[in-house]
Amino acid sequence: TSRPDAADRGGDVRLTGIGKTYGSFTAVHPLDLTVEQGSFFALLGASGCGKTTTLRMIAGLEEPSSGTVHLGDQDVTALPPYKRPVNTVFQSYALFPHLDVHENVAFGLRRRGIKSVKKQVAEMLDLVQLGEQARKKPHQLSGGQQQRVAVARALINHPKVLLLDEPLGALDLKLRRRMQLELKRIQTEVGITFVHVTHDQEEAMTMADRVAVMNAGRVEQLGTPADLYENPRTTFVANFLGTSNLIEAEVDTRGGDDLVVRAAGGKLALPGARCSAPAKAGGKVLVGIRPEKISLTHADDAGSVPEGRNRVTGRIRSSSFIGVSTQYVVDCPACPEFEVYAQNIDRDPRLAPGADVVLHWDPAHTFGLDADQSVL
Ligand code: ATP
Repeated sequence: TSRPDAADRGGDVRLTGIGKTYGSFTAVHPLDLTVEQGSFFALLGASGCGKTTTLRMIAGLEEPSSGTVHLGDQDVTALPPYKRPVNTVFQSYALFPHLDVHENVAFGLRRRGIKSVKKQVAEMLDLVQLGEQARKKPHQLSGGQQQRVAVARALINHPKVLLLDEPLGALDLKLRRRMQLELKRIQTEVGITFVHVTHDQEEAMTMADRVAVMNAGRVEQLGTPADLYENPRTTFVANFLGTSNLIEAEVDTRGGDDLVVRAAGGKLALPGARCSAPAKAGGKVLVGIRPEKISLTHADDAGSVPEGRNRVTGRIRSSSFIGVSTQYVVDCPACPEFEVYAQNIDRDPRLAPGADVVLHWDPAHTFGLDADQSVL
């Protein structure tokens, strides 16, 4: 379970022009993608977007219609799955029901004719924290424990890359969250490349160093979780990763690093660096702001809103108490159904449905999208 030699780049995954068609249907448009050795990479997208097909092409379980797959310097495109230095964990982890945990994990070694497996299996079971359960049968384990056996079984042959296809999909939410942290810990400990397929944005953000957001067979955006959240470049990404309020606007001026846009009769500012639209005067932009970045002030106190903040007016449609914060839906001329999450500290009792309010936020938290982006 020691970290691989840093000079060994065998765990880099490089896809070049890789694509898949089924008859006239394109499941994956030719795409280029590099996953760095030793990183945790997530392919994220809704059902049917092509993420599993992409993973299966890395595994060799699906033959690409175009392009190549490299693992390190080796072109593995023509190699069958068992000759690739990868292993896959599926959602249905299919442990051998008649074998105990120890023998399930030992299976890969025994198949290769290795006789003395005890030490390696014990190491693996320690890694997934199942040392105490070695003599149990799969049906005596919880779902999360079974999944950890599947991970140990996949890691015992020291693959350079571990592929995970919705491995937590069958678990309930609480267990899922625990297993996310557990998988991340295991990946950090073994230091090999993990490529993880999921439709759950929170899961991808929790675990991955980098995330590729897929939509309709294409990678829409690739980046660190923070980058995708802070600087989405398409409306799909802005809405798939959390909620975004999007305001239709038109570029007014560019002053230094800042961009000023006109929206619903007022002006809003945003950092030029956070706008993925071409910033020509008169150009259409969608201005985005996350619900948790917004403050809400009753219209009677509008004068107390500090200078320099972006502001729009509206009327509260509904409010729901959700513990740490209150979620408001506000009808605004600038953006129908504007969502605001306000912290419950010093909540103003006048902020009830029907109240006229000013929504305001720091321009630095604002991002801009190209309003004319082709809908993929
Ligand atoms: P899910 O999360 O539901 O598994 P996904 O994003 O992993 O979805 P894929 O399984 O990669 O999606 O499938 C991408 C598209 O390709 C889907 O529209 C699917 O119907 C189609 N597809 C997959 N396998 C085949 C096949 N063997 N023949 C025809 N179409 C297929």
